[in-house]
Amino acid sequence: MEKDRIPALFGSNVFNEDAMRRYLPAEAVSAWRDCLENGRHLGLPLANAIADGMKNWALEHGATHYTHWFQPMTGYTAEKHDGFVTPAGPGRVIMDFSGKELVSGEPDASSFPSGGLRATFEARGYTAWDPTSYAFLKDGSLCIPTVFCSYSGESLDKKTPLLRSVEAVSKQAVRILRLFGDTETHRVIPQVGPEQEYFLIDKEAFLKREDLRLCGRTLFGANPPKGQELDDHYYGAIKPRVAAFMRELDEELWKLGILSKTKHNEVAPSQHEMAPIYSDVNTACDHNQLTMETMKKVADRHDLVCLLHEKPFAGVNGSGKHDNWSLATDGGKNLFAPGRTPSQNAQFLLFLAAIVKGVDDYPELLRCTVASAGNDHRLGVQEAPPAILSVYLGAELEAVIESIVGGTDYIDPEKRQMRIGVDILPHIPQDTTDRNRTSPMAFTGNKFEFRMLGASQSISGPNTVLNTVMAEELRQFADFLEDSNAFQEDLHELIRRTFLEHRRIIFSGNGYDSAWVAEAERRGLPNLPSTADALGAFLLDKNVELMTRHGVFTRQEMAARHEIYMENYCHVLHIEAMTMIDMVQHMILNAASHYTSCLCETIVRKREAVPGISLRVEEALAESIAHLNDQLLSETAALKSAVELAPTQTGPETLRYYHDAILSRMNTVRAIADQLETLTASDFWPYPTYCDLLFSV
Ligand code: ADP
Ligand code: MG
Repeated sequence: MEKDRIPALFGSNVFNEDAMRRYLPAEAVSAWRDCLENGRHLGLPLANAIADGMKNWALEHGATHYTHWFQPMTGYTAEKHDGFVTPAGPGRVIMDFSGKELVSGEPDASSFPSGGLRATFEARGYTAWDPTSYAFLKDGSLCIPTVFCSYSGESLDKKTPLLRSVEAVSKQAVRILRLFGDTETHRVIPQVGPEQEYFLIDKEAFLKREDLRLCGRTLFGANPPKGQELDDHYYGAIKPRVAAFMRELDEELWKLGILSKTKHNEVAPSQHEMAPIYSDVNTACDHNQLTMETMKKVADRHDLVCLLHEKPFAGVNGSGKHDNWSLATDGGKNLFAPGRTPSQNAQFLLFLAAIVKGVDDYPELLRCTVASAGNDHRLGVQEAPPAILSVYLGAELEAVIESIVGGTDYIDPEKRQMRIGVDILPHIPQDTTDRNRTSPMAFTGNKFEFRMLGASQSISGPNTVLNTVMAEELRQFADFLEDSNAFQEDLHELIRRTFLEHRRIIFSGNGYDSAWVAEAERRGLPNLPSTADALGAFLLDKNVELMTRHGVFTRQEMAARHEIYMENYCHVLHIEAMTMIDMVQHMILNAASHYTSCLCETIVRKREAVPGISLRVEEALAESIAHLNDQLLSETAALKSAVELAPTQTGPETLRYYHDAILSRMNTVRAIADQLETLTASDFWPYPTYCDLLFSV
């Protein structure tokens, strides 16, 4: 029946608990659960039983291969498929899959970035099953979510630190809950719902653009006559071709057990958003990786291309990924939900104080988690939050905090002042309509919305840091409160002092306003506008201490990541510059010259035919184009020599060089070429224009 179709479809490609119960012996299911809940080691016999059940399930669903599915530091996912086929006597095979193959693998890791971690040990990487994330089927392969590490156990991926950070925050949060008399909670689990923005454009137009194919963004393109000025795309009616894409995307995601919930058009033409229902952060991260991959795959089937780049088009909004983050107990209580009793509220205010202090203590590290060449085009450009960290709490909470800090009357005339643990908080609206969309980190009633993340980035980075920062602040609070002899008084004082010392990070004004940059500077908040600025702060002592104290990274792991981020930035800019040069040399110079020569021929012919005829149009155009083309030639040559002179060693100076010497020259080259585009007749221009791209679907 149609009404049962989607429920039946949902999770049909996932080896979830339901499938486990059907395909595994009971003792294997409980061993798996024990492994999950109590971290108990899974012995080989049970691993064999699980592998066997998994294999039978996968074979029945048409799989022929299995792969360990992992998330190397590229930010993408990786897979290497092995067949289940195993020789079984002359000319015969059986389909086999052992517990050992389930639990660990040894892919050749030499081509994944390691930031120097692996060279010192050996080329192999090791993958190990993450039993907390379900295995699933994709393109005929059983995919087993795994962590990826080096021979000596150093993390080479994005999953390991995330899992470690979940442990860290859970441990400290439970200590705090105990102080409030909670004896039942054993684990606290970060919950995350990432809203994914993307562009959809026509495949034919895409294929004609070398920049889109190689860089994922346009390096040239004059503004179209119409952009997003009319705000007519946001929440607008979805066009049939896009609707068909979205319908298929939903079904593919549902099969994978991904709770795709919301879809709508975004601000820019051709821009859209998809949001799932939130889940535990590890699942959310796996699912977001799968979502991005599925978007690309499904788009292709509809002769569309899904662009996840942070800024595919200049002059219209880029794409971000809002990371909605909260903490929940294993019993399902949200620790960022204001409670109904004074005691619940005291606990809520303590968690709130922790995150406010955390963002103020570690703004540089949070900034680094979203630093990339692509995201640099977004942050601080009047469409996305500034590169300056601040926290938005909303008028109600701010008034409460002012009252606590100042010991002053709370706006509610009934109450003399807010006494923590005595008074009940005023009603905090879950989702006020005028809520601040310009804040990088906004409290939205029972969760925080971290809005700095770029559309193509893995959500692992910011969540790993948010969890760890929270772990550290809660640790400090727990150390203090566990020693207290007067809990209520000390709690009140701790919360008051924390808000007093860290209120500078709270900001409710317009984050897009340039006045905020000056105000933030007065407040002493760091402003790290570009990746070249931000990455310099990654290895600050306090950041290394934070991550090592909670066992999330070793110093070497951090240094390796720093290296990879720097390398990536330079590679991206290098590729973009080379693509730009290529496009100018092979197409644009020639197109403009060709058009000029046609104009000149016209001039000659017109003059012959009608002596004294006006030649103003042709002469003026030919003159301007020839002049611009001349400039384009010199500026491209300058860009080319700048690229040739770029330092090759990875380091802060190289980043600086790419930012200062190359990016700025690219902007100059682009500006000239875009002017040429507006002057050159359409027939002669070699690339689809912004109009063709943005209004192609
Ligand atoms: P918008 O920000 O566009 O108004 P919503 O408020 O609907 O969107 O929620 C955005 C995302 O936040 C969704 O993925 C939703 O599941 C997620 N979300 C809702 N509550 C929580 C929570 N307590 N913790 C984490 N994420 C949450
Ligand atoms: Mg949102």
